[in-house]
Amino acid sequence: MRNVSAADLVSAWERTLGRPPVDQALVLLSLTSPDCSSDSLAELSVGERDARLLTLREQLFGPQLSSVTVCPRCRQRLELAFDVADIRQPLPAQTLGPSAELTLDMDGYRVQFRLPNSADLSSVDEVADPDAAREHLLGRCIQSVVRPQARDDRADEADGLRLPLPLVEAIVARMSEADPQSDTRLALSCPDCHHQWAAVFDIGSYLVRELHDWVVHVLREVHALARAYGWREADILAMTAARRQAYLELAGHG
Ligand SMILES: [Zn+2]
Repeated sequence: MRNVSAADLVSAWERTLGRPPVDQALVLLSLTSPDCSSDSLAELSVGERDARLLTLREQLFGPQLSSVTVCPRCRQRLELAFDVADIRQPLPAQTLGPSAELTLDMDGYRVQFRLPNSADLSSVDEVADPDAAREHLLGRCIQSVVRPQARDDRADEADGLRLPLPLVEAIVARMSEADPQSDTRLALSCPDCHHQWAAVFDIGSYLVRELHDWVVHVLREVHALARAYGWREADILAMTAARRQAYLELAGHG
């Protein structure tokens, strides 16, 4: 991955402002692959996207992550500390391209589908009901269905299909198996009531929050140095963090 400068980060932060979470993750992703169009990045599977964002996080802010959550049973507040390596999933046995087809044969059905990507997530952003959102997402990813009663090789349109629940669950399971990083969970245990649960961890929203805090801090430094010395923003951002800190101390802001 190329080096990402402080100016790149400030500019990426500006582009995330007021955007939906899926778009914000794509802005961050563009830092890892500046030569790829946003359309082609939006076609990467969700797991591939998150694997790249984990690598970016490690490069920018190191491997240690921390977070705060609440025990769903006793409401105790838990502070979590973990490593990028703890949540990085092994690569799938077979690496699939953006629109590669997977096939599932079950109970006489043959379903061909691809992995969900950021463009799919964007399209369900407005759907509040989780079941409706899942159905819509599957409708986009399922490319063809051959039903048991229609074994004349006629592929039904994926839109508006009603598939049996066990089949839908098998498709979803195949998707996460083929794209393991798309479903990152932390195995948690409450020290107070010993309740155990798996919490979803989203590297995209985590990194957006972290970038926001970092930019606010750096812009405060830029403000103090520009006021003390009259330097330009671009010149101050181009300095290493250590050099900015040294000048801040000389200017009485240490
Ligand atoms: Zn608890």
